[in-house]
Amino acid sequence: MARNDTNVCKLCRREGVKLFLKGQRCFSEKCAVNRRNYPPGQHVRPKKGTDYGTQLREKQKCKRIYGVLERQFQHYFDIAKRQKGNTGENLLILMERRLDNVLLSLGLAFSRFDARQMVAHGHIQVNGRRLDIPSYLVRAGDDIAVTGKEKVTKKAGDAIEMNKGRPLPTWLEATPADHKGRVIQLPKREDVSVELNEQLIVELCSK
Ligand code: SF4
Repeated sequence: MARNDTNVCKLCRREGVKLFLKGQRCFSEKCAVNRRNYPPGQHVRPKKGTDYGTQLREKQKCKRIYGVLERQFQHYFDIAKRQKGNTGENLLILMERRLDNVLLSLGLAFSRFDARQMVAHGHIQVNGRRLDIPSYLVRAGDDIAVTGKEKVTKKAGDAIEMNKGRPLPTWLEATPADHKGRVIQLPKREDVSVELNEQLIVELCSK
């Protein structure tokens, strides 16, 4: 499974915004964006703002938030283009439907990276069957459950505790006591949990 091994806090500093990639730490004073809100690197020169640069930063932000590498991102963009409706909205909805993102939205994981590991390590069941593909796109009616040893369910319980104040998206239903959740319906653009300008991404990817 390909992954980005960069120190993830550097990704937030590069984008100049919190991407919430580290769970609890992101909400603490230790967050690198709180402490050093400038791009990483020794010789950082201020860059000229160009249209291309703005579009590229938006695309990178999207990839980094959802933990997707370039090839997979292009794959999503191709699917979004083929679907009916607005390509940018379709793209964000596809990202939201990823199983790892859904686990975070349900409050069952500390971060998308943590959710991805839970799936890859076989701790997640979808409709009663183990599913170890973090990029699985959930469908309406899917039942999702954390299963496994006590250590795993305890961790999910801790994540639920941490995510307590976070609103649950309307397209999902959660049963925290059982470490379970359900997809009531597919998300719409207004359900997308991150702030992104999809139009900038479409302009770049359509060149
Ligand atoms: Fe980003 Fe979280 Fe690191 Fe802060 S702590 S820089 S939000 S990954």
